[in-house]
Amino acid sequence: MQISSHIITNPIKLFLTGIVDLIYPPLCLVCKRRLDEHETQLCKLCLESFKLLRKSHEQFSVPGKIYINTAWALFEFDQAFQNLIHHLKYSRRRKPVLVVLDHYRQQIIEQLSENTYDLVISIPLHPRKYRERGYNQVDDMSDWLAGQLKSEVGNHLVKRSKYTQSQTQLNATERCENVANAFTVTLTDEISGKHLLLVDDVLTTGATANALAQVLSNAGASRIDLITLSAPQ
Ligand SMILES: [Zn+2]
Repeated sequence: MQISSHIITNPIKLFLTGIVDLIYPPLCLVCKRRLDEHETQLCKLCLESFKLLRKSHEQFSVPGKIYINTAWALFEFDQAFQNLIHHLKYSRRRKPVLVVLDHYRQQIIEQLSENTYDLVISIPLHPRKYRERGYNQVDDMSDWLAGQLKSEVGNHLVKRSKYTQSQTQLNATERCENVANAFTVTLTDEISGKHLLLVDDVLTTGATANALAQVLSNAGASRIDLITLSAPQ
């Protein structure tokens, strides 16, 4: 029975997909060119145009102690990548980032290979922001990294308990004040002694990630690194 339903379903699925593609041809998210049949979400030209930075990020402009050991921003924040992140955050286009991560998998994993991680943790959204957006835009990346690094996802171990205003108009000191006491650790025992990799979409001053790293450090984490998709200059 299973085999026959498989045979019947697939041609129908293929036919329907063909019709949908004919009416709404799949376009590259970045350049809007029509995709070839072997391309998904992004055309080959755009996919290969993203520039890996290949070095750790040294320029935190956060006053006070830095609780993050090493930070990486993976890709240059050019117009195309900015476009990709904008879609990830504001138009529910979650798959293209996974296509990018898969394409650059080997180089990304090489960058992270000096350390091992027990837990990969997304910078959490406040529940209100989560409801507004419907998802945390970096959860897919955290799942992807945990799979590649053979670690666990620890998103349930932290929460954002303070609803913070947008950071875009704030300077570094104001950003730190804005996110102070924003995060709490829910299960300290699960954090103590662990190597953690925090995940965010963009790294600007590092104030948000550092505020989370501070509470994780207080909970006994022995190493805290940060990885982001990109870093605006
Ligand atoms: Zn394109």
